[in-house]
Amino acid sequence: GIACDTEGMYEEAKRIFGIVAVNRAAVCEKNMDSILRVAEEYLPRRLSGVRTFKVDARRSDKRFPLTSPEISATLGGKLLSLMPNLRVDVHNPEVVVTVEVRDEHAYIRAGQESGAGGLPIRTSGRGLLLLSGGIDSPVAGLMMAKRGMEIEALHFESFPYTSERAKEKVMSLAQKMCAYASRIHVHVISLTHIQEELRDKCDEDYFTILLRVFMMWLAASCAGEYNCSALITGESLGQVASQTLAAIEVTNSYVGLPIFRPCIGLDKTEIIEYARKYDTYDTSILPFEDCCTVFTPRHPRTQPRREDVERELAKVDVEDLLCEAYNSMYTETKVIFPGYR
Ligand code: ATP
Ligand code: MG
Repeated sequence: GIACDTEGMYEEAKRIFGIVAVNRAAVCEKNMDSILRVAEEYLPRRLSGVRTFKVDARRSDKRFPLTSPEISATLGGKLLSLMPNLRVDVHNPEVVVTVEVRDEHAYIRAGQESGAGGLPIRTSGRGLLLLSGGIDSPVAGLMMAKRGMEIEALHFESFPYTSERAKEKVMSLAQKMCAYASRIHVHVISLTHIQEELRDKCDEDYFTILLRVFMMWLAASCAGEYNCSALITGESLGQVASQTLAAIEVTNSYVGLPIFRPCIGLDKTEIIEYARKYDTYDTSILPFEDCCTVFTPRHPRTQPRREDVERELAKVDVEDLLCEAYNSMYTETKVIFPGYR
């Protein structure tokens, strides 16, 4: 036969969006002797340390000679004799033992675990995640993947102000996200020249918001090229100067696509909980610089107005800068095949 890593598959199934719960079932022949024999072999391990249980039997094959309550009573009695510390609690059991008599076989299972929940990936279209090396954006991407979005990623670098290792960190974050999102293309665009131009020509206080407008423009182009119908960011309301309502209003006004910000109402501590759950946290906190931390203004505008942003944008050659940056784009793909992590 074909060797098969069922243990690995079980663990993997817990990371597949769209699966609410996972459970290992033992297969039995369709008679009570076989059900009891398999139960004796399979259940004591699952019930060790457990004090209360109940048996929940279902038969879709009504020709099976015992009714569901009779199956429950027979198996329950057997378990009580096998494990003297067990008690039956039909209202609030620690573990439910389920027996299902179906067309071909009967199945026994116990000790269900939660799955990743959500909707299967690719059932909600495709989104372009603006992926930095921080804590928030990988969480934002995975939250949208959980709602069924296929994730494409865009990272902005600012070489030589940001290092090769900062980019490698982003690539390992994408790799980690693949455990849930299965495959992610990471597109990389250099912002170096844009940032230098903004530094040299524009009012320092507007630097942050101007850079975000450029990021959104480039992201919208990338989204168009890769068939993404939404942008996704890790912004959280009020967390930093560029994440005030006024700043969000200005950035939104420059793009037509919906921008999903699933972390918008979360506190940092809550975002960190998600990052730990999705196993991106340890990578996110590695100390490398991000392009947003290059030339940061001393007094960034928290209440930017669109007309002031327009005035500042007029000081640089927007179209040339966008073309040059977009032409610098290159792509890396990260994949995890189940079982090869
Ligand atoms: P994060 O923890 O995701 O880095 P942050 O709290 O540091 O977020 P900002 O640096 O203001 O906040 O970035 C806000 C959002 O903008 C990020 O969540 C991300 O979606 C996007 N972003 C910021 N920097 C980059 C970058 N270098 N490349 C791609 N997207 C970025
Ligand atoms: Mg950041």
